Amino acid sequence: MQIAKTITEARAMRSTTPGKVALIPTMGALHDGHLSLVAEAFNYADEVIFYIFVNPTQFAPHEDFDSYPRNIDDDLAKLASVGISKVFMPTVDEIYPPENVPFEIDVPNLNDILEGKHRPHFFGGVCRVLTKMFNIIQPHYAIFGQKDYQQLQIITALVRDTNMPINIIGAPIIRESDGLAMSSRNVYLSEEERTHATALYKALQQAKNLIETAGETDPAAVESAMHDILSAHNFKIDYATVRHPHTLQPLDCIEPNLTGGVVALIAAHLGNTRLIDNMIIASPKNDA
Ligand code: AMP
Repeated sequence: MQIAKTITEARAMRSTTPGKVALIPTMGALHDGHLSLVAEAFNYADEVIFYIFVNPTQFAPHEDFDSYPRNIDDDLAKLASVGISKVFMPTVDEIYPPENVPFEIDVPNLNDILEGKHRPHFFGGVCRVLTKMFNIIQPHYAIFGQKDYQQLQIITALVRDTNMPINIIGAPIIRESDGLAMSSRNVYLSEEERTHATALYKALQQAKNLIETAGETDPAAVESAMHDILSAHNFKIDYATVRHPHTLQPLDCIEPNLTGGVVALIAAHLGNTRLIDNMIIASPKNDA
């Protein structure tokens, strides 16, 4: 396995990688959700460059940058098992040397709502690191999970509106057998919290049932049902909401036949652990 630790090494690795190249950005502590992105990448590209970088600029000072799980040896073994042979694993100083200007990229309307409202550092840091990584690797494709739904919308807008010649690909959410979306942060959950954590998926399924099966058109009714399920399982809710699938703006009404449906999004705390999840839901059919 070829491992680049510096930008110079990463550029050399890229320039000797033939064909179409996909980049998979991650913060490591890899699980099957991350590994599913590899299979998705090989649907599009001849070669995949995987990066592992716990990006400090997307964490607020009170968040878990220092304690974020890091299992490099384990990660590299998992990557080798799914056919990855090129990894970029820079240090923080390599990506953010002291002389760097701390620029931030704003994606208005998308980055100050939902996650951006509760984690004001987050998307500025994500866009900053991805702009750097895209410029260093210059991939044809970059693969992201729909698990981080708002992030996927923001990156799609960033790349489209700054004319970066990169195709952004979204990949489905991979879940545990009881529905909990895989996440590096699931290891923080106690045994008891882990049993309650399935309420995230249950709340999303309830939203789906209400909209797709019962034909509910009032977003407030759906949101109230999601809140009830989450509260009954000790979640402290940042948001549990139904939004337009691209603009992520609130909806007055879940209109029938809305192209792309709607998206239900949740962020909530179980003890000290903050979890996010989402589900695309078809809007009700109106054959009249
Ligand atoms: P992270 O390491 O948490 O920053 O995630 C790196 C990438 O993996 C992001 O594009 C995530 O959306 C994606 N990802 C994380 N968890 C999952 C999952 N359960 N299913 C699919 N993709 C995921």
